[in-house]
Amino acid sequence: MNTMDKYQVLKQYFGYDTFREGQETLIDAILAGKDVFGVMPTGSGKSLCFQIPALMMDGITLVISPLISLMKDQVAALNQAGVHAAYLNSSLTAAQYYKALEYAKAGRYPIIYVAPERLETESFLDFALHAKIAMVAVDEAHCVSQWGQDFRPSYLKIVEFIKRLPKRPIVSAFTATATKEVREDIIDILLLREPVMVTTGYDRPNLYLAVQTPKDKFAALKASLDAHPDQCGIVYCQTRKLVEDVSGRLKNGGFSVTRYHAGLSDAERQKNQDDFIYDRRLIMVATNAFGMGIDKSNVRFIIHYNMPGSIEAYYQEIGRCARDMEPGECILYYSGQDVVTNQFFIEHNKDNQELDPITRQIVSERDRMRLRKMTFYCFTNECLRDYILRYFGEYRSNYCANCANCLTQFENVDVTESAKALIGCVSACRQRYGINVILDTVHGANNAKIRQYRMKDNPYYAVQAKTSPYRLRQVMNHLILQGFLSLSDDEYTIVRLTDASKRILDEGEPVVMKMAKEQEPAIKAASGKKQRKGSAAAVDLSAPDQELFQQLRALRMEIARDEQVPPYIVFSDKTLVHMCVAKPRTKAAMLAVPGVGEFKFGKYGERFLECILTQATP
Ligand code: ADP
Ligand code: MG
Repeated sequence: MNTMDKYQVLKQYFGYDTFREGQETLIDAILAGKDVFGVMPTGSGKSLCFQIPALMMDGITLVISPLISLMKDQVAALNQAGVHAAYLNSSLTAAQYYKALEYAKAGRYPIIYVAPERLETESFLDFALHAKIAMVAVDEAHCVSQWGQDFRPSYLKIVEFIKRLPKRPIVSAFTATATKEVREDIIDILLLREPVMVTTGYDRPNLYLAVQTPKDKFAALKASLDAHPDQCGIVYCQTRKLVEDVSGRLKNGGFSVTRYHAGLSDAERQKNQDDFIYDRRLIMVATNAFGMGIDKSNVRFIIHYNMPGSIEAYYQEIGRCARDMEPGECILYYSGQDVVTNQFFIEHNKDNQELDPITRQIVSERDRMRLRKMTFYCFTNECLRDYILRYFGEYRSNYCANCANCLTQFENVDVTESAKALIGCVSACRQRYGINVILDTVHGANNAKIRQYRMKDNPYYAVQAKTSPYRLRQVMNHLILQGFLSLSDDEYTIVRLTDASKRILDEGEPVVMKMAKEQEPAIKAASGKKQRKGSAAAVDLSAPDQELFQQLRALRMEIARDEQVPPYIVFSDKTLVHMCVAKPRTKAAMLAVPGVGEFKFGKYGERFLECILTQATP
C-alpha cells in the first residue's frame, strides 16, 4: 500500500499538478469506501479516477474492460509511469496467463485489467476468491446495457462474479455514453449501491464542428489533406468497399495512409492499427469498427466521409479527436445517399433478426428516430455543438464560436413558395409517401418511383424545378422541425400534414428560414476562417520553438522505438509543447512540466533536458 496522498500520486506517477473536473470527487468517494459512477466525455480522464485510488488502497483493483487493445494500451501506460499492472485476456498464451496469475497471487500488481469473459473461468476464480479485491472498476460500463451502442453480453457476468467474492468490493463504473436509459441500466444491472455520481459536461470545446456537402467528396478530402500534410487523423467511411476505395486512392496519391475494417484478417487489422498509433502512418481510413479505446492523443482531425446513423455514434467517433485538448477538427461530408444507406442498414440489421418481432420493431423505430436526429444535425443552421449537447440533455447558449454555423453569416430567406409546394404536394397525394418522393415530385424528377406512383399527375409536379434538391431538402427539414409537417413513426416514414400545415397552405403565413449567405457555406467557413495549422499541437510555437519541438519529437520517436510503445505513451505532444515553451534546464523545472512525473523523469528526463540545452542555447 502507498502512503502518498492523492496529489502526490497524481504528480509522482502521472506528472500532473491538478485534477480535472470530477476526478477528485470520484477519487475521494472511492477512498471513503463508496461505489461511484462517473459519466464523463471521452478524453476527460476517467482512468485516473480508478487508477489513483487503486494505488492508495489496500488490496487489488480489478479493471473490467471490453477490448484487448484498450487494456494493452492502458497497462503499457501504467508500466511506463512506474506502476506494476497486468492484463488477463485471450491475447496471452497459456504460459503467459499462468505466469501473470502467479505474480498476481504474489501481490505484485495493485491493478489488474481483466476481460469480462475471464471472470468465470476456474483459474481466475481460484485467484480472485483468495485474493483481497478492494475494488472492481467497470470501464466502458455502457457495455452492460442493451440500449447502448456496444452491448456485450459478457458484461453481464460482472455482477455474478462480484456476488461470488467473499467480501463485496467497492464497485465503480465509468462511461462516456449516457442517455438516460443507459445510465439507469448501468446502475440497475451492476447493482451499484447509492453510488456517488459525477456527470461532467459533454462539451469538447476544442473540437471544431462542421458539416459540408461537397459535390465530389474525394476531391474535398484530398484538398483538406493536402492543406495539412503532417497531421494525423481518421477518415470514417460507411462501408468496407468505400474504405478500400478511399484508402487506395489516397495511397496512389502518395498519402501516408492505412485502413481498417472487419473484412481484414486479425493480423492485418492489428498491424494497421499499430501503424497508426505508432505514428508510422498518419491517416487511418476505417469503418466504425475502428476506434473503440483508441487513446492516441494527437488525432487532429476526424472526417466522416458519410453521415453516421446516430448522434451517439457520431459523438463517440469524434470523441477520438484531439484528446490532448489542443484544437481538432471534425468535418462531416453529407450527401442524400448517406440517409438511404443508413435506412438500409436499419432495415437489414442482422443483430436484430434474433429479436422477437415486437422488440425488433421497437429497436428499429428507435434507430430510425436516431437517424432522423442525425440528419437534422446536417441541416440545422443553429450552433452545431448546441444541437449535439441538447441531444444529450445539456442546455446552454446557442453560440459556441467554434463550429461552422457559429462562424457563418446568415441571412433570412423567404422560402414560402417552396414550402407551399411541399405541403401542397403532401396534401394532393393524400399523405401517402415519404420525403424523397415528395422532394422528387416538386423538383420534377423522372425516376421509377415517380412513374410508379404517377406523381407526374400531381398538381405540384415540377413546380419547384428551379430550386436545387439540397435547398428543397433544407426547406422540408425546416417544415418538419417547425411542426408544419410531420413524419410517421413506422418504417415508411410517411410525410403527414399537421394542424399547422394549413396556416401556410391556406392562410398565407410566410415561411422565413435562416440560410447561409454563401452557396456552400460550411466549406468556406471551414477552409477560410479556421485553418488547421502546421504540425500536431505545436500550433502557436515560434519558429525556433518549432524546431525544438521537432527535435523533441524525434527523440521521443527514438525512445518509443527502443521501448516498443506508442510515442504518446512516452510523452504527449502537449507535454512536448510545454517543454518548448518553458525550456526547463533543471530537474525541478522539468518536473514542473505537466505530464512529467518522477518515474518518467528517471527514465528519460536527462535525455530531454540535454536535447533542450543543446537546442535552446544560442
Ligand atoms: P477517458 O477514459 O475519460 O476517455 P483517459 O483516462 O484516457 O480519458 O484520459 C485522457 C487523457 O487525459 C490522458 O492522456 C490522461 O493522461 C490525461 N489526463 C487525465 N487526467 C489528467 C489531469 N488531471 N491533468 C492532465 N491530464 C490528465
Ligand atoms: Mg477510458
